[in-house]
Amino acid sequence: MLRFKKNMNIEKIKGSIRNIPDFPVQGIQFKDVTTLFKDAECLAELSDVLYEMYKNSGITKVVGIESRGFIMGPILATRLHAGFIPIRKPGKLPSAVYEESYGKEYGLDTIQIHKDALTENDVVLLHDDLLATGGTMLAACKLVRNFNPRKIIVNFIVELEDLNGRLEFDKNIRVDSVIKYDI
Ligand code: AMP
Repeated sequence: MLRFKKNMNIEKIKGSIRNIPDFPVQGIQFKDVTTLFKDAECLAELSDVLYEMYKNSGITKVVGIESRGFIMGPILATRLHAGFIPIRKPGKLPSAVYEESYGKEYGLDTIQIHKDALTENDVVLLHDDLLATGGTMLAACKLVRNFNPRKIIVNFIVELEDLNGRLEFDKNIRVDSVIKYDI
């Protein structure tokens, strides 16, 4: 009964995500989560689903990736009574940073985290809106590993399963997603 109810909620959340063909470039099926966030009921459902996933995991910090990881990340951190840490693009964080560069379709991208953001006592939940090739989250994991935390869990709202991004992660890192697409 509980399982049925949960699946119903996931289908409702999935139905609220808009697909935009050929954005930002030809051939990409862009999953637009703004239509999910716009819907008060779906936003609350997603918050509930994420909270249920991690309420017993002892998370002390939620780390969100700029910029779509800055929406559910702080909502979830609040519900878990955890702190929120931003991973940002270069030039945005004011104090000393660690940084990682990673290959994208065109050229390199770089992300940064404050050097005093985490400690080795933290249990970290890394969050972003979507898993495609995994390059962005892999770089984020490397940033978090600088702190040698007790545990790292990775979470996405959406996973594009056909791209096999989850295969990029070490076997000892748990990778979760709420909604899965074939394309
Ligand atoms: P990747 O590093 O390839 O896993 O790409 C993930 C990042 O790119 C996430 O921050 C997403 O917001 C964005 N992204 C990549 N592909 C898509 C897509 N099809 N729809 C929406 N966002 C995407």
